[in-house]
Amino acid sequence: GAQRASGDQLPRYVRVNTLKTTVDDAVDYLKRDGFSYLGQATRVDDVNLKRKDFVRDLHLPEVLAFSPRTDFHEHFLYKAGHIILQDKASCLPAFLLDPAPGSRVIDACAAPGNKTSHLAAIMKNKGKLFAFDLDAKRLATMSTLLLRAGVTCHQLAHCDFLKVDPDSPQYKDVEYILLDPSCSGSGMVCLRDDASDQDEDQARLASLASFQLRCLNHSLRFPHLKRLVYSTCSIHRQENEDVVTACLQQNPGFRLVPLLPQWPERGLEPLTQCLRASVSRTCTHGFFVALLEKAAGHGSSQV
Ligand code: SAM
Repeated sequence: GAQRASGDQLPRYVRVNTLKTTVDDAVDYLKRDGFSYLGQATRVDDVNLKRKDFVRDLHLPEVLAFSPRTDFHEHFLYKAGHIILQDKASCLPAFLLDPAPGSRVIDACAAPGNKTSHLAAIMKNKGKLFAFDLDAKRLATMSTLLLRAGVTCHQLAHCDFLKVDPDSPQYKDVEYILLDPSCSGSGMVCLRDDASDQDEDQARLASLASFQLRCLNHSLRFPHLKRLVYSTCSIHRQENEDVVTACLQQNPGFRLVPLLPQWPERGLEPLTQCLRASVSRTCTHGFFVALLEKAAGHGSSQV
């Protein structure tokens, strides 16, 4: 279908890893390597590029956009961990959570770790980044990725996040959580399966949504939590706005933070504080992100 075709035409995005280099140095290297730099994008569709042209992204200052079939897998900057191959939309969660250097942070469903390495870059490798995942193979990939990216502030654990004790002394100072749980993946345009069974889809979505809500409710039990980002690469309301709405009903001490007014696509009504992303509106895969914060008068973390 049309979505599949446009998926092939998505820009190739890379995130500059500021633990290893700067955006200016990466841009200079790429220019010497034969790419043509067109400066920072000024409109959303400035990322639709030809041949060797590239731009700095309009919304995310550490993201560069290239033409669709640009391949960096054999490139020095990728092999040396100076750039991370990551869709623009998937750079939103860590950027919006924005944990302070020196703070304690949890990445609840972390493998293969692109968002973990982004969090570490924002923290300047200072503080503690606890990263959990249930899947040993994905965790092994993640170790390699974090090593290449120069991440040192992390502690990986092979476990079920739902079984992590929020009252354990080692997590008592955790103020930030990034929750990017398993989802249907329906936003990934190249993976979309047009011929799937509708009833099976509904049952699967219901089960994913119930898992996502349990993870979200569990996250909010960490006693010193200030801010949490919830994200999925799903386009289904059931896994996105519906999960967040149910969670807020069950946790009146938290509220949604309005995100990036300049972003072109909002969460479905009435959750317009949240962001969505799509091929047609943001030139990215389909994505959803919500930022929850502890409301004033609840707990001791307000400043
Ligand atoms: N945040 C990752 C990134 O940016 O690279 C992608 C995470 S992926 C969407 C979801 C992950 O959640 C999978 O790696 C899966 O193994 C893990 N997962 C699923 N159930 C889990 C659980 N109960 N506890 C911890 N991790 C879980």
